[in-house]
Amino acid sequence: MWRVKLSTSPSGASHEAGWTEGGIEVNLTIEKSAAASPEAGGGDSPQGAGLDAGPDMGMAAGQLAGSDACSLDNYLSLPDHSMDGRIAAAREQLGAAAIILGHHYQRDEVIRFADFTGDSYKLSKTAAKTEAKYILFCGVHFMAESADVLGRDGQQVILPDLNAGCSMADMAEISQVEACWEALERLRLSDEIIPITYMNSTAAIKAFCGEHGGLVCTSSNARAAFEWAFKRGKRILFLPDQHLGRNTGYAMGIPMDEMVVWDPWSIQLGSIQLGSVQLGTIASGQTAERLAASRVLLWKGHCAVHQRFLPGHVDQARAKYPGIQVIVHPECRWEVCQKADALGSTEQLIALVERAPKGTMFAIGTEIHLVNRLARRFAAEGKRIITLDDTGCLCTTMYRISPHHLAWALENLVEGRVVNRIAVRPQVKHWARVALDRMLELA
Ligand code: SF4
Repeated sequence: MWRVKLSTSPSGASHEAGWTEGGIEVNLTIEKSAAASPEAGGGDSPQGAGLDAGPDMGMAAGQLAGSDACSLDNYLSLPDHSMDGRIAAAREQLGAAAIILGHHYQRDEVIRFADFTGDSYKLSKTAAKTEAKYILFCGVHFMAESADVLGRDGQQVILPDLNAGCSMADMAEISQVEACWEALERLRLSDEIIPITYMNSTAAIKAFCGEHGGLVCTSSNARAAFEWAFKRGKRILFLPDQHLGRNTGYAMGIPMDEMVVWDPWSIQLGSIQLGSVQLGTIASGQTAERLAASRVLLWKGHCAVHQRFLPGHVDQARAKYPGIQVIVHPECRWEVCQKADALGSTEQLIALVERAPKGTMFAIGTEIHLVNRLARRFAAEGKRIITLDDTGCLCTTMYRISPHHLAWALENLVEGRVVNRIAVRPQVKHWARVALDRMLELA
């Protein structure tokens, strides 16, 4: 007997196939009441990839009987360490048909199983070059979307826990961005604005930028993206991280008062009509005059992890450890970046530590898992690394991906089921790809 369920849900519900756009998922689940069905999960199964089928998972399968064998609930109650052997066994059975990607901020118990580690863009590009049919992305939702956009035909992307979102990406919803653009159109400003979105945004936002002549950038090429945009327009709408946008614009010499913040949550307090155009305060909390005088419109978004670092943390580190090098991610506040010795993307921060002479001490302003791993890795070279704020700078959403979720996703694949697939709608995928391809034009 077959059962077909169609539902929409916020991140968090398990499903076997579906579209995702702007944080809303439309889930289509096709279930057979008996055992595993290779048809579920968007069609293809590991068997289709030429793998040996069957639940020969030794102790793992032996402990989990019947049609509940791959229910997530059966995994969550087990201790962390009991997952290791099961992950390794499932990984071996799947062979080259599946790869595991681990973002730099992922927790140790998960990232140790990754075939590739890196930032989100590097991982997505790497995955597309592999022969793997199944890409298990141990990162957050927007990263899995990007892997799907950049992936080859036939590749399927899995996010082991759909609760792994990104607070920054969630701060720019497509309906809010469309409302912003509409307001800019009414003010006759949109024709001269190039939208740029940081990689850390939903596929829908990337598609919006692609469709409106803009592009995507990473934290390492944001300046080049600004330069690209200023050759084509008078001003930039930068989404969704105000800090990366402000730090980039400031480094290019753009005065602070020419970078205004667009607050999508601001309540319209009043308006002044001039001809057919609304002047005075508009819904963003800005005036039309300020918008018209600006060069960069900064979307009011931020990373909850990087915004925790404060200028006082830099002062404390320098007072306690004279000569310490403070290096921070450009998602940190402008005031923190101004006090730091250097800024850099995750890959650039790692390179800075690698190049430093023996004996250098660093305080690093980024996610704690990366900082701790760097501290362990470079201790043998006599380099000492501490976090800029030891009260906890954890990406709690990425942390949701546990060994249990990874084991669950892998063992379902072994049994012929694709769970938690992230599939971007074709139209959105097309325009998001356009925006990503424009990024490749950057020097
Ligand atoms: S560290 Fe910040 S920007 Fe990166 S995934 Fe976590 S919440 Fe999002």
